Amino acid sequence: MKRLIKIDSISDIPPEYQSTPVGLLFEYHNLERPGESYDKAQLLIGMCMDNRKHLHMPDNFAFIIRSGGANLRYSEFKVSYAIGVGQVRHIALIGHNNCGMVNLIARKNEFIEGLVNSAGWERDRAEEHFFHFAPMFEIGSETDFILSETKRLRLRYPKIMIAPLFYLVEDNKLYLIDEK
Ligand SMILES: [Zn+2]
Repeated sequence: MKRLIKIDSISDIPPEYQSTPVGLLFEYHNLERPGESYDKAQLLIGMCMDNRKHLHMPDNFAFIIRSGGANLRYSEFKVSYAIGVGQVRHIALIGHNNCGMVNLIARKNEFIEGLVNSAGWERDRAEEHFFHFAPMFEIGSETDFILSETKRLRLRYPKIMIAPLFYLVEDNKLYLIDEK
């Protein structure tokens, strides 16, 4: 796992992110900055659907797209919408530790049994569904995936600032993933 940069004060926020919506997200979530009021979104957040995470930030501050592993490859129209129509110029991608989208194959039987027993699926269809989609949604490593997704989105949206963040489920704080 890549090194995480701890943000305990404003001076821990790298200069390029200070005074941007990404820096503000750190201030709201980690540093208890009082919430200002916003009439439009400043930031697009891409984060995992995992239930263990809750962000502290003011109402209206951000659009949020939640998907397994903060994978935005299949949410690109929504990303484009937030930029084109919602006018955001900054994206925070937030991975987290113990993500369920790492090593999906280890949950294959659970996945298939769950669909058969709880959703009423035929076993063959559940297996086919797993093997079709698992390779698309597997992220490999939580931090490496966020860094590769950050690079991909920077190429796709060159004028948008994209920052790789990480949420530790043990302390519920946001970290920056070191890109060096
Ligand atoms: Zn996750």
